[in-house]
Amino acid sequence: MPLPIDYHMHPQAHSIKPYTPELLQPWAETARAKGLKEIAFTDHDRYREGVDFDQIDALREANPDVKILAGIELDNDPVTGKAGRLWVEENWDRLDFVLGSAHYLPGDPEMFDQVSRKDEFAKRDLAADCALYVRELEGMMDRGGIDALSHLDLIKIHGVWHPEGGLPPHFESLLQRIARDGLAIEISTAGWRKPVGEQYPQVDLIRRARQLGIPFTLASDAHSHAQLAEEYERLAGLLKQLGISEVAAYEKHQRRIIPIT
Ligand SMILES: [Zn+2]
Ligand SMILES: [Zn+2]
Repeated sequence: MPLPIDYHMHPQAHSIKPYTPELLQPWAETARAKGLKEIAFTDHDRYREGVDFDQIDALREANPDVKILAGIELDNDPVTGKAGRLWVEENWDRLDFVLGSAHYLPGDPEMFDQVSRKDEFAKRDLAADCALYVRELEGMMDRGGIDALSHLDLIKIHGVWHPEGGLPPHFESLLQRIARDGLAIEISTAGWRKPVGEQYPQVDLIRRARQLGIPFTLASDAHSHAQLAEEYERLAGLLKQLGISEVAAYEKHQRRIIPIT
């Protein structure tokens, strides 16, 4: 049985493309073809103008066999983050699911996760960067309006950071905070196509999150419908190996736990 949910995807990809049946229908069809039961549209909040809840309703009517969630990936963009948060507040009742992400380090106008920045990050103090990154996520949690955190250890993306003692010490306080706040985190296959070559988050972080009772969603972070559920067979193997047999699913921000088989 295929894994049931993909809760992170970008129909608009990297620019504003208003939601239309032409844009959205292929996502429903690919979801069906790949055996997904539920998908969540989570375009970046900077492209919120393209999101159209009426179009999502129409898509639901046309595809009643696939559950389609209205969502957004809200990040800490120093330019658009504030307006994005206001939009989330205004549209909270029409949204099912909000992902929180940090793509920016303080004082840096460029996303740190651009693959072109690998050489630069190889020379940086990544432990210090990770502390700043964690603080950005905590700031987002302080401001609220988030159901789950995406790509939790994104700061590792360049594959140039191999701290002694592993990643857990750098994420312990964050994981405890996530557990206290009752948020979920995603297990994402996107890291497998990045220089780090590892899912988000790393397995020791997944294990620690489980100990703390943090639930997981599943995600491909697809930027094209063809990428939906990418590497999900490999992901299913990882979940089995870790003994994870259930995931979190959402509707209007209400969480329920569903079996993965
Ligand atoms: Zn992201
Ligand atoms: Zn994303």
